[in-house]
Amino acid sequence: MKLEGKVALVTGGSRGIGFATCKKLASEGAVIIITDICDEEKAAPAIKELQDMGATAKFYRSDVSDMASVTETVEAIIQEFGGIDILVNNAGITRDMLVLKMEDSDFSSVIDINLKGTYNMIKATYKQFMKRRSGRIISLASVVGLTGNAGQANYSASKAGIIGLTKSVAKELGARGVTVNAVAPGYIATEMTEVLSDKVKKSIDATIPMKRRGTPEDVANVICFLASDDASYVTGEVIRIDGGLAM
Ligand code: NAP
Repeated sequence: MKLEGKVALVTGGSRGIGFATCKKLASEGAVIIITDICDEEKAAPAIKELQDMGATAKFYRSDVSDMASVTETVEAIIQEFGGIDILVNNAGITRDMLVLKMEDSDFSSVIDINLKGTYNMIKATYKQFMKRRSGRIISLASVVGLTGNAGQANYSASKAGIIGLTKSVAKELGARGVTVNAVAPGYIATEMTEVLSDKVKKSIDATIPMKRRGTPEDVANVICFLASDDASYVTGEVIRIDGGLAM
């Protein structure tokens, strides 16, 4: 197993791409820490499924956009598990609307959770990664952070920001043996995209060279590669997982 004994923290890990990532990392032997804004009861089935796989798994309730909550949670995890080897910044939201009609609060909340949340997690774990002189930071960007998308100015800006953040921190931590990368999924079938109408889903599928939306597992597999020793000389990279959509 490629990640035996490694401690992996996945934000927003109780469902969707985050949970698929937890299962993939667990299948390679990692200890899984899920942080999520939901309460413990809602995350319990995810933790149980991981434990049933034979993994060590624990849930911490934490809001990525709240620095105090993030700092307290990261300190508790380091205390209990001795450190964090793999950080997956997965938590994210959408509040789609044309700029003309967008509520300012919807612009701010998407930036606060997606971009500032990723920064908060990196900031809170930065020192321990430096001290350990090894580690993996993998953040969820999106193809719309590369291409833009009408109706998603807030979301696209947050994901483009994650790409800049990733490349900057990769330069800061490279000499310490810590790799920092992002993945840019296209349309992935999760609750986030389930809200789209069947008509919109069909028209999206038609624009994808591979003619289908991705699965959470398609994304989890690439994250697992980046978390493993196989990717030890890959840093500052953004890997599209989009069936060719943004090429
Ligand atoms: P999802 O199904 O909506 O899951 C998002 C998770 O993040 C949920 O567990 C949610 O918790 C959690 N979360 C939301 N706000 C949070 C906060 N403030 N603090 C901590 N956790 C929080 O989303 P997904 O489709 O799996 O997407 C995962 C990531 O991939 C996101 O960053 C998304 O932008 C990115 N992505 C997705 C797609 C796609 O097509 N699905 C494409 C490109 C990129 P609750 O369950 O409590 O709400």
